Amino acid sequence: MSKNDNVKKILVSGASIAGPALAYWLHHHGFEVTVVERSPELRLGGQNVDVKGPALQVIRKMGLEDQIIAANTTEVGLRFVNVKNEIVGEFPKESAFSMTQELEILRGDLVNILYQHTKDDIQYIFGDHITGLNENTNDITVTFSSGKKAAYDLVVSAEGIGSHTRKLLFTDEFSYKYLGLYTAYFTIRKTAEDSRWARWCNTPGGIVFILRPDSYGTTRAAITFSSAEMGYESLSLAEQKSILIKKIQNAGWEAKRLVAEIERSEDLYFDRVSQVKSTTWSKGRCCLTGDAAWCATPISGKGIDLSMSGAYILAGELSKTEDYKEAFMNYERRMRKDVEDAQKLPPGVPGIVYPTSKFGVAVFNTFVSAFASKPVQSLIKLFHTSKKTEKSAIELPEYG
Ligand SMILES: Cc1cc2nc3c(=O)[nH]c(=O)nc-3n(C[C@H](O)[C@H](O)[C@H](O)COP(=O)(O)OP(=O)(O)OC[C@H]3O[C@@H](n4cnc5c(N)ncnc54)[C@H](O)[C@@H]3O)c2cc1C
Repeated sequence: MSKNDNVKKILVSGASIAGPALAYWLHHHGFEVTVVERSPELRLGGQNVDVKGPALQVIRKMGLEDQIIAANTTEVGLRFVNVKNEIVGEFPKESAFSMTQELEILRGDLVNILYQHTKDDIQYIFGDHITGLNENTNDITVTFSSGKKAAYDLVVSAEGIGSHTRKLLFTDEFSYKYLGLYTAYFTIRKTAEDSRWARWCNTPGGIVFILRPDSYGTTRAAITFSSAEMGYESLSLAEQKSILIKKIQNAGWEAKRLVAEIERSEDLYFDRVSQVKSTTWSKGRCCLTGDAAWCATPISGKGIDLSMSGAYILAGELSKTEDYKEAFMNYERRMRKDVEDAQKLPPGVPGIVYPTSKFGVAVFNTFVSAFASKPVQSLIKLFHTSKKTEKSAIELPEYG
């Protein structure tokens, strides 16, 4: 174990994926870590995420692979269906470019596994958040919404796409690239129509419904729709629910069922699909990681790869030098190209997958059904890196 002599106490803000993974590696290298999470408890909602490539390597280094395998959602593949629920194309897990990867795990299960693995060594504070940062020569004083104040050597924001700490400090250095979509994730009751297959249904209005099995006897729903940028992410949950209901209520397929589920949902997560572009990931004693630094959106299929490897590399670089500024620079140098690659979108993406007219949906479904073997598999590859062809560019050095 090594430790930067000048840096001992680190505050990590955000307890989802990037935050607890970073906390683990910082503790591993001998730092004293506190994690603060704005929500009063872990937020365990969401659909599947896949653990592959560099994320899997980091998970292995943390000794968590067996737990991840045990939590596999056991999804067998993806079926495209039309509004009559007829199958128009089928992509079993084994097919080269299936959306279903080898290790599918619910996002919430991954969050919980990371938390359980770190909670005995790391102080977690729930229901509080940073409201002010005052950097001094030797440390940084943090003010919390609870009124508490505390000094740390470094602060890292792992607060996700809307990071408040990033907005406080990186005002001129970051921007969003809105991709023309909003997405909602929520858990719904399982019905006879739900099986081990994920179902994907396009409906006019640029709406895509995806229902995926979980291992809890429920089903995980995602609704994505194209829209001009409306600032919906800043609205209250009740307002978000009402917008979502209005958008889908006449869409057909299982919209009626989903409207009822939205009304009763307790874990609905609704956000814009935007990339975060930040010209730098550090300023003074503060640093960004995970979606707060580089959100590549679910379309990239790289969110978990980048958060897990970013956490590993940032902690490792801090352990190597007594100069935290040098460590931040090295972290950025190692990660930036992979982040930029993950944010590159092929021409027409994501628009082509969200046709708005009835005719457009019919064309899309004809395309899926006619080419259910190869070309459509290529289309899916645009959204989810193939488990068979994937080659990770992210290099994970050995640290101490
Ligand atoms: C509830 C939820 C459900 C999601 N579902 C999916 C999904 O189904 N599929 C998918 O691909 N991606 C989903 N995501 C996004 C996905 O988790 C991230 O893209 C990715 O894992 C990177 O994780 P992250 O830790 O950087 O950020 P996030 O996972 O976004 O986590 C950020 C964490 O920081 C906390 N936070 C926010 N602001 C503050 C603050 N000011 N102070 C302290 N804490 C703060 C949040 O509550 C959250 O716990 C979801 C995110 C959330 C929060």
